[in-house]
Amino acid sequence: MRFLDLIIKKRNGEELNEEEIKYFINSIINKDVPDYQVSSLLMAIYFNGMSFKETSILTREMANSGTICDLSFINIPSVDKHSTGGVGDKISIILAPLIASFDIIVPMMSGRGLGHTGGTLDKLESIPGFNVYYKKDDFYNLLKNNKVAMIGQTEDIAPADKYLYALRDATGTVESIPLITSSIMSKKIAEGTKNLVIDLKVGKGAFMKDIKKARELGKFLIETGKLNGVNTICILTDMNEPLGYAIGNSLEVIESIEIMKGNFYATDVLELTLELGAYMLYLTKKISIDIAKEMCLENLKNGKALQKFKEIIIKQNGNSHVIDDYNLFKKSKYKKDIYISDILNQKENISIKKDKKIYIESLDAYKLGIFSCLLGAGRTKKEDKIDHSAGILLYKKRGDEIKPDEKLLTIFSDDESKIEEVKNNLIEAIKLCNNKPKKNNLILDKLIN
Ligand code: URA
Repeated sequence: MRFLDLIIKKRNGEELNEEEIKYFINSIINKDVPDYQVSSLLMAIYFNGMSFKETSILTREMANSGTICDLSFINIPSVDKHSTGGVGDKISIILAPLIASFDIIVPMMSGRGLGHTGGTLDKLESIPGFNVYYKKDDFYNLLKNNKVAMIGQTEDIAPADKYLYALRDATGTVESIPLITSSIMSKKIAEGTKNLVIDLKVGKGAFMKDIKKARELGKFLIETGKLNGVNTICILTDMNEPLGYAIGNSLEVIESIEIMKGNFYATDVLELTLELGAYMLYLTKKISIDIAKEMCLENLKNGKALQKFKEIIIKQNGNSHVIDDYNLFKKSKYKKDIYISDILNQKENISIKKDKKIYIESLDAYKLGIFSCLLGAGRTKKEDKIDHSAGILLYKKRGDEIKPDEKLLTIFSDDESKIEEVKNNLIEAIKLCNNKPKKNNLILDKLIN
């Protein structure tokens, strides 16, 4: 078999068979194919897609390219949650301890920030000392002793995905349904979870911009999960506006801790936590969604989720005193408060009547994600170092009224020039209006088997 023949077959819109897909993944693992040929095949897949059958074989082979964890020795149901990536999306930080507080196994292997989106590992590492690097045996020990692990993928989890993902990122082939499906599900199959709730983001700040494509992706994720023993549910959620008020690593951990302290001011964060948490309980405890939501709310209010979070931090070598003293997080060198008057006089707002009520019409998740990265919260290159204290703290959300003397947001960074740059371009991300806008739904659809 020649790799070139696979490229030509896919270029011509034909299906690859099992033997060819195995050859594709083996060639990567054995390093006997150059990047340019793999890139070419990826682009052919991007344009011509893959059938469901091809996608499920690819997923299985990518999972089998490394270790498959077996959590059956713990003898307790397991469930993980995965987000396809958003801005201000700190839900995993709340959900992992919340669900583990019900004595359910949560084997959470997360990723780092990608493009304009944040990553759970970067957020957790804003807690001084917090370790996310564990080998398989330590991962098993964390799960056995504490029910939950919040770690990065161990070296040997789906190595084919590690290689392919880096190449896709550099060749414009990320947004492909079969490639996203095989990337997400190969890692989830390999980490050993038996149940999975996927928060499939849709909108400006998501990889999937429209709901039709997101539904198609959802079906592929659910079906490949089913074929590989992972019972999967997809919840489609809006990602046009950032989640909550905090964007940036330590800012988001602080907002998560506030939710776990029962301070529910970020109502969208609470709503999504309860929704996803309820489906995680439904999958593992077979209880109704309404009862499961009440149980989740109860464990946020009674401090059990927070107590579990504290245990996670301690077990993973972090300083758990951050929970009671936010000054223990690294502080930014510079910060700047932005008032609505700062953007009201710019030419884009010429049509806003200043003598009438002013509302936030929209906060663009994508642009705010990009700004947050620019301030230091994310990476533009894989090797870039993260500034854990950088980011944006919003005080208003879509639909809120705002008075000219009110604070709209605060910008944090160690680089003063970046603060100026973001301040001068904020108008690209924030639209104002004089009529109160209608509320958007956060939960757009649910795909349940
Ligand atoms: N997250 C992943 O892990 N892989 C993708 O391809 C997209 C999002």
